[in-house]
Amino acid sequence: MAPLTFKVEPGSKVQLDKIDPRYEAGLDRVQAEADLAKLTYEIDELQELLFGAGTHSLLVIMQGMDTSGKDGTVRKVFSQVSPLGSYVVSFKVPTEDELAHDFLWRVHMKTPGKGMIGIFNRSHYEDVLVVRVHNLVPEAVWRKRYRLINDFEHNLAQSNTIILKFYLHISKKEQEERLLAREQDPTKAWKLAAGDWRERERWDDYMAAYDDALEQCSTDEAPWQIVPADRKWYRNYAVAMTVAETLRGYKGQWLAKLGKVGEERLLELKALRAGQPQ
Ligand code: AMP
Ligand code: MG
Repeated sequence: MAPLTFKVEPGSKVQLDKIDPRYEAGLDRVQAEADLAKLTYEIDELQELLFGAGTHSLLVIMQGMDTSGKDGTVRKVFSQVSPLGSYVVSFKVPTEDELAHDFLWRVHMKTPGKGMIGIFNRSHYEDVLVVRVHNLVPEAVWRKRYRLINDFEHNLAQSNTIILKFYLHISKKEQEERLLAREQDPTKAWKLAAGDWRERERWDDYMAAYDDALEQCSTDEAPWQIVPADRKWYRNYAVAMTVAETLRGYKGQWLAKLGKVGEERLLELKALRAGQPQ
């Protein structure tokens, strides 16, 4: 089967304008939507194993331009996962307190502990994207951040954090249609932000910043996945499949761990009962 996402191989060049946001890997929409429904239940089952085994955590990073569907993808892909074992953090313009610290400080505090799924809606990558596009810090400062980000993610991976990073790739045209659609739909108008139109004028600067971020920060332990995202059904399916396939790789070891823990618990119970008068 053709790959669903464009995984950025470490050390390879990234040119987003060479990747078609309408790519759909020859899939049939109706079939993909039916498969997505099944995948969401599988992701829930895998989350329970992750939680029970308590040996790993999963960090999912969502990035993309305004309207690319970061929120919508999270809502769909993790729709069946228990709120007990997962959470979402949206990173906004930093507060005064956050700005007084290094750029990773607010992010590190929110990384998932063992057994948990943590989802970042925007992330530390904003510090080499919006920050670069708007010259919020000098180039000498943001350039060093690629390395700092790789070291940070390496540190997380060393502590058994599984890291998945999705860039939702939409076209400038599709963004325009989605922004205009929001104006027409009273139930979506609350999402409107005049700033979105202003940011749109910097589209090419953002694409250049994304090219570099994806190229500089794709590693074996934390690779970037470029997700064609003009079609929502495809985007959701591609992300869900990538999450499920990644977690399936751990299923065997988590089940083994759970089996062992279960045996220990049963032995404890047996010992307790043996020591008690019947
Ligand atoms: P939204 O995700 O649409 O609610 O908007 C959040 C806004 O916060 C976006 O415009 C981001 O670019 C901005 N933002 C997030 N992180 C940072 C950061 N580190 N520095 C500056 N702006 C940021
Ligand atoms: Mg926005």
